[in-house]
Amino acid sequence: MSLDLQVNASLKPFNSFGVDVKASLFAQAHSDADVREALLCAVEHQLPLLVIGGGSNLLLTGDVSALVLRMASRGIRLLEDDGDRVIVEAEAGEVWHAFVLWTLEQGLSGLENLSLIPGTVGAAPMQNIGAYGIEIKDVFVGLTALDRQTGELREFSLAECNFAYRDSLFKQQAGRWLILRVRFALSRATRLHLEYGPVRQRLAEQGIEQPTASDVSRAISSIRSEKLPDPAVLGNAGSFFKNPLVSAAQADELKLAHPGLIGYPQADGQVKLAAGWLIEAAGWKGFREADAGVHRLQSLVLVNHGSATGLELLALAQRIQADIQQRFAVQLEMEPNVY
Ligand code: FAD
Ligand code: NAP
Repeated sequence: MSLDLQVNASLKPFNSFGVDVKASLFAQAHSDADVREALLCAVEHQLPLLVIGGGSNLLLTGDVSALVLRMASRGIRLLEDDGDRVIVEAEAGEVWHAFVLWTLEQGLSGLENLSLIPGTVGAAPMQNIGAYGIEIKDVFVGLTALDRQTGELREFSLAECNFAYRDSLFKQQAGRWLILRVRFALSRATRLHLEYGPVRQRLAEQGIEQPTASDVSRAISSIRSEKLPDPAVLGNAGSFFKNPLVSAAQADELKLAHPGLIGYPQADGQVKLAAGWLIEAAGWKGFREADAGVHRLQSLVLVNHGSATGLELLALAQRIQADIQQRFAVQLEMEPNVY
């Protein structure tokens, strides 16, 4: 028995909003054996099990009546290497950005656009994390998960994960699969994705004409550090809403009424609207009520100025949703996992 169980534990250090709530029981899992012990423990205490990583995509609306298990397993290994394509496996508790930097140090490209995303490797497949035109599905080859219903291990291939925009089978079947380790196919040859204007612009400002994957990682990290609030300083969970997809006809109609509207046509004919633009146009940028607010630079990010409760943040999100629906007839979907 190695699990260190804490009773009535504060979750404030374990959620990036810094919401001050407690868990009935809390433990950290450093191994598969710890995970199995925690599952038994939850049954013994007649509590549900809530698995977390870095807590950077959570909104906790009150004390959590559960055994909260924080994944802290470590380990990165090369599984295959044919000279160009390299398969790398990382344990769920590895810190995502540290893992990205490790791959770059090995001369491997593929994850550079996903630099500086908070959280863990194990949570990355949950919403198929994405940034600057890349999602993990683009480099994902498989993962090992524990089926919490049967206690059996299951291997998932790319095709079985149902990855979509900020979505996956694991999010759709929330609470069933506990992700233990994830595998990625990376490349020794550099194949960069520089479609997003700000990245090209930052590299040009730095006078870099032929960027390496590490150059792209540094450029993206610098952009992100300037634009996004650091959760250690100002509580937040990154983008609070997904970018909504609307029909081309609705996008055209909205564009007539709002010429500044930002939309990106998708392969399936729909148009992805920049949710941040809608929220800013509706006047919410920098809004604050008590300690719950909208970031002054990035209106897609809700912030906790100090002692906002999860319910206050949720109420603000719902007001924004209702306002955007009323002004633009567009339904905004929340991105963080609300408990
Ligand atoms: P947590 O918040 O701890 O958990 C998220 C969900 O996954 C929960 O439902 C939890 O139960 C579940 N979960 C966690 N670990 C496991 C596991 N091992 N097995 C099964 N279920 C698990 N996201 C992006 O996609 N792109 C971005 O660019 C981005 N930028 C961000 C910037 C900031 C400043 C912040 C605060 C957040 C950002 N995010 C972004 C959101 C967040 O970083 C990601 O969703 C990240 O993958 C969450 O990881 P985590 O370990 O913190 O997960
Ligand atoms: P941005 O560069 O200001 O762009 C605004 C929006 O327009 C983004 O949401 C992005 O969609 C879209 N966009 C921009 N250029 C595009 C292109 N060439 N093709 C298609 N879509 C384009 O966005 P930002 O807020 O600074 O974020 C930069 C990147 O980091 C984005 O990819 C964003 O998703 C990611 N990010 C995510 C989170 C999170 O919590 N989920 C937090 C911070 C940043 P997409 O969002 O679909 O890329």
